[in-house]
Amino acid sequence: MFNKKGVSDLAAVGGAPVFDQIRSTSNLVRPDFGRFLEYSTIFYEQHRYTNDGPLVTLLEQRLAAFHQTRYCISFCSGFWALVLTMKCLALPGKTEVVMPSLTYRRMADLAAWVGLTPHFCEVDPATLGMTAEHAERSITERTALLLGVHPIVNNCDVDGLEKLSAETGIPLLFDSVESVYETYRGKKIGGFGRAECFSMHASKLVNAFEAGYVTTDDAELAARLARMRGFGFYGEDNVELLGMNAKLNEIHAAMALAGLDDLPEQVDRNRARYSAYQQAFSDSPGVRLLEFDEIEQTSFKNIVVELKGDWPLSRAETIKLLHAEKILVRPYYAPALHQKKTSYRTIFGPLPITEALVDNFLLMPCGHFVTEDDIFQTAALMRFLFANATEIKHRMPQ
Ligand SMILES: *Cc1c(COP(=O)(O)O)cnc(C)c1O
Repeated sequence: MFNKKGVSDLAAVGGAPVFDQIRSTSNLVRPDFGRFLEYSTIFYEQHRYTNDGPLVTLLEQRLAAFHQTRYCISFCSGFWALVLTMKCLALPGKTEVVMPSLTYRRMADLAAWVGLTPHFCEVDPATLGMTAEHAERSITERTALLLGVHPIVNNCDVDGLEKLSAETGIPLLFDSVESVYETYRGKKIGGFGRAECFSMHASKLVNAFEAGYVTTDDAELAARLARMRGFGFYGEDNVELLGMNAKLNEIHAAMALAGLDDLPEQVDRNRARYSAYQQAFSDSPGVRLLEFDEIEQTSFKNIVVELKGDWPLSRAETIKLLHAEKILVRPYYAPALHQKKTSYRTIFGPLPITEALVDNFLLMPCGHFVTEDDIFQTAALMRFLFANATEIKHRMPQ
């Protein structure tokens, strides 16, 4: 049970930490080991390790069925799934990609790998998601692609972005890494825009150690992506395809398949953790838990809290105090992308909404290693920080 009596008991000033093992924001979910071995036996017995082996093929079928799309193309990572799909979809002769600034820290690098310039837009302060209205303001005559990115909790403005894409003729690609399990107006994420990209890194909803995939209904795009990931060009008319290797291998596919078998159960466990967070933070002053939209299907995986105006510590101080207690909270997508130094050019106008939001949100521990008791202890600590903030600020080493 939470047992800090005074500020001297805080780990940041020499007390014992709340936890002896870290609690993190990475999912690190582990499927049943027997299941993983059963799948692995298939490729092992066939001596098939990579290059369209039986498990990669099965995984792509399973994922296409899950997202209700015609095609799924797997990759070695979400990063390369995104880079190659951006490369395929960008309008020829155009140079800019519209994307939010308050998003995944490598998003601008993706554009740079494709030789495109990121053009940052705002997000909606209520949902933290990209909207058509904001995206539209960042469109120029040089726009090659709209990169619709789902926020960490719930979805972005899918309908609006699809309309904007139809009106302008600018292709729309979704980064749906954080919306794998979600529906949008009752329809599965995966089938919107020209294509959607996902990751199965160990920290994500489905753990394949490392992996990514693209879903689409576009046969030509699917065929081109499948060629590109395996060294590029087959036949003389595909000279524009640079050769590269971004294939997924069989053992990663085995892990992903075992994870997919466990997915409904994982979501039940996530839901229980989220309920504990709702209960634990219901009477916590200064903080607000971001609520999942339960009208849609959702994975309940990521837990985000807002430090409200009356929260008495800075986010940096809060993070420092929690880290000392082995609670590895992380800032929500901070710094914003337009605030970072890059070796390549970026484009943006004033982004006052993003700058007002960027210091206010925290990702809380979630996933496999977090118990309901951990959640109540974490909330108790947050209440303790709120109640003792003046003394804490005074005592904290600078
Ligand atoms: C993790 C992540 C990626 C990249 O996926 P990897 O498989 O780690 O390369 C892309 N977009 C978002 C939003 C992510 O969270």
